[in-house]
Amino acid sequence: MTADFRHFYQKSWAERTAIVAEQAQLSTAETALFKQYYLPQHSEIIENYLTDYPLPMGLAVNFVVDDHPYIVPMVTEEPSVIAAASNGAKIVKRAGGFTTKLTKREMVGQIVLEQLADPAKTAEIIMAHQADLLVVADAAHPSLKKRGGGARRLRTRDLGQGYLSIDLFVDVQAAMGANMLNSMLEAVAKSVGVLTKTNALMSILSNYATASLVQATCELPVSLLQAGRYAGKLVAQKIASASTVAQIDPYRAATHNKGIMNGIDALAIATGNDWRALESGIHAYAARDGQYRGVSTWTTDGQTLTGTITLPLPVGIVGGSIKINALAQLNQRILGLQTAPELAKVMVALGLAQNLAALRALVTTGIQQGHMHLQLKSLALAAGATATELPIVLQQLEQAPQQDLATTQHLIKKLRQ
Ligand code: NDP
Repeated sequence: MTADFRHFYQKSWAERTAIVAEQAQLSTAETALFKQYYLPQHSEIIENYLTDYPLPMGLAVNFVVDDHPYIVPMVTEEPSVIAAASNGAKIVKRAGGFTTKLTKREMVGQIVLEQLADPAKTAEIIMAHQADLLVVADAAHPSLKKRGGGARRLRTRDLGQGYLSIDLFVDVQAAMGANMLNSMLEAVAKSVGVLTKTNALMSILSNYATASLVQATCELPVSLLQAGRYAGKLVAQKIASASTVAQIDPYRAATHNKGIMNGIDALAIATGNDWRALESGIHAYAARDGQYRGVSTWTTDGQTLTGTITLPLPVGIVGGSIKINALAQLNQRILGLQTAPELAKVMVALGLAQNLAALRALVTTGIQQGHMHLQLKSLALAAGATATELPIVLQQLEQAPQQDLATTQHLIKKLRQ
């Protein structure tokens, strides 16, 4: 029988879990998982809440950013990510740490007008009323101005085919600013409608946060890069070559950037930030000249390896679910964060550390060697190894000709005989 999901959102938590249990024919043990991870306050954050979904949280160490040491909380289910970040940061620490630069931190949102016969004329009217429209924007969220932020400027872009984008730039202070900006945009859109006798197609922030760019650099003596039988100078040259490949080949660039996002997303989740927003903005930025490229570059003169990364990182330390997420608060304390720009600076440095460790492994021993131990651990746990069995199974797996689930299950079975 199919369970009744009508008005599911109006049901109590107990009713919801019962309906799901009926629909999916869950056992008592399976249904108990809902209770195990249930946090009552989280039913206020999303709709149709059932339970929390746990992800591992750990700490990356060795970070020095702008002469300040940081312990970096990361939430990730992927083995080796935290080890790689700590490893990359350790190399950079030996060379004095990361240097970062953040010149501006504004969020941008757009009001899109359509079916314009003369977009240039409309744009002229808008810009002639810029000061008034900024006042309208601020009035829609006055507390922001009181905190020293608020609407800063307008820009118009003719998108072609009769579409015009009116871009509003806002200093959102310590928040990411999506909701605040959306309220301001909707208010401005009404005034724009009156001024230009048009109806806006939509008003929404843009995740392409080009006014929230943050850069990290590091300069490493090549001797620090030595890896096993590979001399540091050779490793530096190979990392620079890998960087070139990520600039010219989108297939490589996507993976290059995914490695960077391993770190960015993990810290974004740990601090209660919207990682989907960061993902979309960063990938759009990676394709800003029409070709998708690596967001970091590495160059060497034979003595030094220089790494640079620039990312749009509109992150917040307040707003969204941050205040009601105890672990996000705790992680801010672990980081010792004072401001949102500080979080962006640690985050961009983390991306570069992650990238350095990945490239160094890739161009020397290969990625699998470092990954394998943790991967095998995941495999053994997935196959049902207990804490006591784990070290023995791991040892045997490392010697096994095939390191797959069937082999692991076979090893566990033999161990239990
Ligand atoms: P909020 O809507 O929570 O607004 C920020 C809150 O923080 C306000 O209530 C503000 O108070 C408060 N605040 C306290 N101190 C400060 C300070 N120093 N500076 C700024 N604000 C402060 O969050 P955001 O506007 O940041 O929106 C983020 C959320 O929006 C995320 O959850 C995101 O997932 C979501 N979102 C994302 C979209 C996207 O990316 N495309 C689209 C829509 C939503 P006060 O009210 O007094 O000003």
